Amino acid sequence: MKLATIGVGNAGTKILDRMLEFEEETGRNLCRHALAINTARTDLAKPDYIPENRRVLIGDTHQESKGHGVGGDVDVGADVAQTDIEEIRRAFDDVEIHDVDALLVSAGLGGGTGSGAGPVVIDELQKMYDEPVYGLGVLPGEYEGGRPALNAARSLQSFVTKVDNFIAFDNDAWRARDQTIEEGYDEMNQELATRIVTLLAAGEQDETDIAENAMDSSDIMRTLDTGGVSSIGYAASALDGQEGLLNKFRNGENVEGDASDAAKIKGLVRRAVNSRLTLPCEVSSADRALIVLSGPPEHFARKGVESARQWLEQEADTVEVLAGDDPRQNATQLAAVVLLSNVTDTPRIDEIQDQAVDAQNKIQAQEEVRDEEIAELITDDDDELDPVV
Ligand code: GDP
Repeated sequence: MKLATIGVGNAGTKILDRMLEFEEETGRNLCRHALAINTARTDLAKPDYIPENRRVLIGDTHQESKGHGVGGDVDVGADVAQTDIEEIRRAFDDVEIHDVDALLVSAGLGGGTGSGAGPVVIDELQKMYDEPVYGLGVLPGEYEGGRPALNAARSLQSFVTKVDNFIAFDNDAWRARDQTIEEGYDEMNQELATRIVTLLAAGEQDETDIAENAMDSSDIMRTLDTGGVSSIGYAASALDGQEGLLNKFRNGENVEGDASDAAKIKGLVRRAVNSRLTLPCEVSSADRALIVLSGPPEHFARKGVESARQWLEQEADTVEVLAGDDPRQNATQLAAVVLLSNVTDTPRIDEIQDQAVDAQNKIQAQEEVRDEEIAELITDDDDELDPVV
């Protein structure tokens, strides 16, 4: 697939930057346009791969932002984007839309910019283009507290209703307890970039001899066509370099593959589904699913792919499971990516909503008594003193 990618806010920009890094390191060609949008000037200076002329500061003249971010206030984030909508629109002037199949907006939902400005950007893209607009959103960890949960629960409603599909990443599930939050983020961003780029770049080869069973971007788009919230599973297995080649010689060509190749592929796909998903969910609640097998083509055993596909049909309880190859001749590993589209049973989203409702009630209760408590604090017990002026 060919994408125009937009990172909104700090996390959204960092994730996009890691996607570009992974693309460059693995010789993929997914993001034809990359743009960062942020309200904080300092954060916009940080990316390594997003070109400087593709970074847009919004809100520098906004009363509550002035180029310093929005302080985690999702309503200010949305207001800044609405105020600077012309500037956002102009940033797409040089996007050759006929060069891309879809647009992808990445954001962290727990803050103010990604969660508030993100949906405004998506609205605008949906108005400007006929191509699908996908969301890639990070859900805050429970450890972050009530405010990020409230931002995320509200923003999730806007994202999911506005995008064509929302691919979620749950920080709670991916946090390693022995790391600082920043170290943890670096690793999480790499894990997410590996999954999303391997999935969406599948079949996007520059070589002319496209393999027969190569994944096509229309298969990926069809799977995402359900709308709703989606999750990605991934597993990889290192190759020793010789094994695939030997098989190829033994079989003449490895169209059918041998039994052990087939079993390996099925095992890899099972591992992808049963390992940590970007958003933990009940696999059987998926509406559609898709398997991408990425690596040197001599390792693709058709029987293995087919039996993995049948297995996933059972697991996901859907007849809509597509599978395709992503030949990467020079890859040193065989990877399976599984997209579970429109998963409806995800306990983490319920937890965030519960945490958000608690936070909202607490905030309202505090607001109601705030003036009274301040008056009580500064007034003496018998109200004998007067203010100066
Ligand atoms: P914004 O700039 O106002 O959108 O706020 P941030 O992007 O800094 O943070 C929003 C949320 O994203 C936080 O509440 C975290 O849950 C999450 N977050 C921030 N940075 C990262 C990151 O690098 N990786 C991941 N996975 N999550 C992040």
